[in-house]
Amino acid sequence: GRPVSSLFPALAPAGGRLDRTALRFGDRSLTYRRLAGAAGALAGELAGEAPGAEGPRPVAVWAVPSPETVVGTVAGLLAGRPVVPLNPKAGSRELAHVLGDSDPSAVLTAPGEALPGPADGLRRTDVRLDAEGPLPAREPEPGAAALIVYTSGTTGPPKGAVLPRRALAATLDALADAWAWTGADVLVHGLPLFHVHGLVLGALGPLRRGGELRHLGRFTPEGVARGLGGGGTMLFGVPTMYHRLAESLETEPGLVGALAGARLLVSGSAALPLPVHRRIEAATGRRVVERYGMTETLMNTSVRADATGGPGTVGVPLHGVDLRLVGEDGGVLTGRDGETIGEVQVRGENLFSGYLNRPDATAAAFDGDWFRTGDMAVREPDGRVRLVGRRATDLIKSGGYRIGAGEVENALLDHPRVREAAVTGEPDTALGERVVAWVVAADPAAPPSAAELADHVARVLSPHKRPRRVRFLDALPRNDMGKVVKRALGTG
Ligand code: ATP
Ligand code: MG
Repeated sequence: GRPVSSLFPALAPAGGRLDRTALRFGDRSLTYRRLAGAAGALAGELAGEAPGAEGPRPVAVWAVPSPETVVGTVAGLLAGRPVVPLNPKAGSRELAHVLGDSDPSAVLTAPGEALPGPADGLRRTDVRLDAEGPLPAREPEPGAAALIVYTSGTTGPPKGAVLPRRALAATLDALADAWAWTGADVLVHGLPLFHVHGLVLGALGPLRRGGELRHLGRFTPEGVARGLGGGGTMLFGVPTMYHRLAESLETEPGLVGALAGARLLVSGSAALPLPVHRRIEAATGRRVVERYGMTETLMNTSVRADATGGPGTVGVPLHGVDLRLVGEDGGVLTGRDGETIGEVQVRGENLFSGYLNRPDATAAAFDGDWFRTGDMAVREPDGRVRLVGRRATDLIKSGGYRIGAGEVENALLDHPRVREAAVTGEPDTALGERVVAWVVAADPAAPPSAAELADHVARVLSPHKRPRRVRFLDALPRNDMGKVVKRALGTG
């Protein structure tokens, strides 16, 4: 028979969906027929290039939000060439690090795209949307490297996670199960395409289902209102985007109706503050669904589309994911008391195969076949997982208690005069560590007092969780996914 792609069945000539829209970026759109032709042609070129000593050479993609980025990525996957998505806004040092580490043979770009310094010397291959070629006749093995994605660099320099083909298929099909995600869905988002969230879930996800991606280019509440209002069924975003949507509910025409009319609103990459959950639900009647994943594991848990129960958890393990919580003494926690904190460890087909060039980091990240996520969580009595924070930065040991930063952050955000908050620990001779709050005031001219905030936390949580020190900032340091970079807060 004619070649098909097991990752993207909708590209097959017999798929019957070839005239449907696959991708829409502003007024540029591509049908599945065009995607198959363009990606097939480029895959043919890429498959013909000489492999390196250890197998197929990686190929980079200059991941601006464009159809070329998606076509280039799909072509690399079809050809069995590990694809390295590059952050087009990365600084020169970060870009040089990623290129030096992954050593791609070429960078795929739209014709005429200008590249900055470190990428300048790379061989370039144009992604032509009007090219026409067949899908390759042979497919790589399920264990072959499909993507090399760099972690967000929230806790240290970004590491290249090597993701096999089987992990992509496993995670996307588990999400389809949890969210009833089908080819009839039209996904709207404005996420960058060089992380797992925007690229794997947000671009390869709709293509695997045979549905449509409608990318906003740049995220704006106005774009969300237009994208969802014009037939979008699902929205993906990071918490800073939902925060902006919550702040635009009253001012952006059509936004409330567009959100209310969507089938599913999904948040991930960092914790969605409870006040944002509440504001969106109160105005639209829709509950934002949180899912939890990482570059290394793709998706681990999610709130299911049909789930009941309040916000504040990341739901239950996805189909095919084994999840356990491991206590401080190394023992597996079996209780579901909603209180005892353990490290999340996972195993399943969704996992990466290792960090590129980092056997030390890879070995340290595993306990047998269990991956240590470094994230801390509790199990609710009904089995849902509630994340508490990261072991390295978000677990504060104070006066014999273990305090999760997220809980204190949510309490601070509940205060009417707080706009943003991050909580860290700093050494304290009496307590071991003390809770420190970093706060952006709702009105910088009239910040709340430190005592007022400490009392507020003591009242809504408990006295030992109150911040002993409050620092006011104009803005929290955030990376390109909107995640707070706590190591940039320092302790001073
Ligand atoms: P680095 O590993 O380079 O320090 P990073 O961990 O931020 O950066 P990613 O792999 O992009 O890089 O992010 C995964 C992390 O994001 C998870 O380990 C978890 O801490 C956090 N995360 C993801 N989804 C959620 C969520 N729904 N709620 C809270 N945290 C989340
Ligand atoms: Mg990480």
